[in-house]
Amino acid sequence: MPEGPSVRKFHLLVSPFVGQQVVRTGGSSKKLHPDGFQALWLQDTQVHGKKLFLRFDPDEEMGPPGNSNPVPEHLCGGAQGKGAADQKQASGPHGRKTSDGAFRSLELVVPQGSDGPACVGEDTPAGGAERWLQVRFGLFGSIWVNEFSRAKKANKRGDWKDPVPRLVLHFAGGGFLVFYNCQMSWSSSPMVRVTCDILSEKFHRGQALEALGQAQPVCYTLLDQRYFSGLGNVIKNEALYRAGIHPLALGSLLSPSRLEALLDHVVEFSTDWLQGKLQGKQRHTEIYQKAQCPAGHQVMKEALGPPRGFQRLTWWCPHCQPQLPR
Ligand SMILES: [Zn+2]
Repeated sequence: MPEGPSVRKFHLLVSPFVGQQVVRTGGSSKKLHPDGFQALWLQDTQVHGKKLFLRFDPDEEMGPPGNSNPVPEHLCGGAQGKGAADQKQASGPHGRKTSDGAFRSLELVVPQGSDGPACVGEDTPAGGAERWLQVRFGLFGSIWVNEFSRAKKANKRGDWKDPVPRLVLHFAGGGFLVFYNCQMSWSSSPMVRVTCDILSEKFHRGQALEALGQAQPVCYTLLDQRYFSGLGNVIKNEALYRAGIHPLALGSLLSPSRLEALLDHVVEFSTDWLQGKLQGKQRHTEIYQKAQCPAGHQVMKEALGPPRGFQRLTWWCPHCQPQLPR
């Protein structure tokens, strides 16, 4: 699944289309009915951790867009769209339209819309309508702007088959967005605490440090999206290496200054990754998927995770990241 920096980039690709009306649709999504987007206005977009949210409003005379099926569609293989397209961006906001509550601030923490999950699937009046499209990207998930992803190699049968877009939205400004390999569903609001989002300006360091200081291996805590929204396995491995901390070190045994340093590396690596992405640079990792660390030591690799929890491949250098004395 793309980590926070990738989804941030998708958010930036979508942003120029805010304020425009959908004039034509396409895509293979069965659950979402791409033609249901016809004539809707893209009114806002937000990113929270690894999820992208797009708010669509109907014209006044139309019903709410979220008419429907709360069941997320399944990820399908096949789509191979890697990397998002270059941005021949659409011609800016076009016919921007405002409506109540359309432009919500990022610090939103309380679910908007009075009805909440109970109304999922109901054909509710505007107040409780599910107007936020929630997008979760699969492993090769991506958004392309004004062009389609093309096959990069033949499949097993020798066919050069282009990835099938899940959703295509053409806008009044002349540009279009193409969504590949993602799960989409309607929700009433982005219910995310931005204070946990490692790339948000509102990221709350104190809260994050408190979480890291728990008496459990720091590599478990880092992947806990309740505290570190947007943080994935790459960032985990890189931040631990750069901070010189063993992945199984208990947070409670690390000094406050070492926890601070770890957090600094999390934020710095994530921010650099995002900046690099925006400039089209390759991600640079020092330990993730490496056989040797930059100092030439042999790297250890093991699947680590909480008991009965998801075990994630973890790379570390036993010299640069020594185990703490017990
Ligand atoms: Zn090393």
